[in-house]
Amino acid sequence: MFGEFKISRKYKNNDTIIKIKKTEIGGDNLVIIAGPCSIENREMIFKIAKAVKEAGGHILRGGAFKPRTSPYDFQGLGEEGLVFLKEAGEMYGLLTVTEVVDTRDIETVKKYVDILQVGARNMQNFALLKELGSCGKPVLLKRGLSATIKEFLMAAEYLMVHGNEEIILCERGIRTFETMTRNTVDISVIPFVRQQSHLPIIIDASHGTGIRTLVEPVTLAGIMAGANGIMIEIHEVPEEAVSDSEQTLDFETFKITCEKSRKVHNLKTTL
Ligand code: PEP
Ligand code: MN
Repeated sequence: MFGEFKISRKYKNNDTIIKIKKTEIGGDNLVIIAGPCSIENREMIFKIAKAVKEAGGHILRGGAFKPRTSPYDFQGLGEEGLVFLKEAGEMYGLLTVTEVVDTRDIETVKKYVDILQVGARNMQNFALLKELGSCGKPVLLKRGLSATIKEFLMAAEYLMVHGNEEIILCERGIRTFETMTRNTVDISVIPFVRQQSHLPIIIDASHGTGIRTLVEPVTLAGIMAGANGIMIEIHEVPEEAVSDSEQTLDFETFKITCEKSRKVHNLKTTL
């Protein structure tokens, strides 16, 4: 179906496994990525990093350049936030990921994190994709708000054509007629991508559902469908998070979700 493209299993049959330090992303590994929606201050990201580590997580996430719907909403701490993210990651032995929204920020962001994220709103920002193709670091590519699977995979193809083979795809829900949930998680994209592409795909049920109590069940469903990893937004006091509070988990709930995630992943790999 995608035979002529670099993202396809025809181009490369074996799963792409992205190795960063001791963490392997792809194949039979389950990678756990967690952190706040936005880095708010130094202390909070350190507390969160500790919670991620204690729950068995691998990668600390945190937004510093935030793509907010309203220009009046908190836009992130910028480079200062990245300094905190890097320090917290190093302190707890976690890899780091953050979103880059502008080609002009790539060089700066690259200095601080292990993985650069392309947000849903930028999935078809082709200038950004082209630049990230040659950035020399893995890219976490989120599915666009209304992107078809083909558009999603072609965005990854842009990165590959421009030289980057280390791509992690992320299903974070798409916009449908449904309004009870923030987005509609497309579970079928996970096995579809696993069948058609060698690239790893993870599930972000936080943005996918927008509702705290739905994060765990949808995360587990994603793993059962074949997701190579999970991304979850967490905060010490979720109600006080400056962005995406309603979908943010507290540390204890997150820890339990991680335990269940590993169980489901073990079951999935032994089926
Ligand atoms: C995020 O992960 O911080 C984010 C903004 O998500 P998305 O791009 O999927 O909306
Ligand atoms: Mn968020």
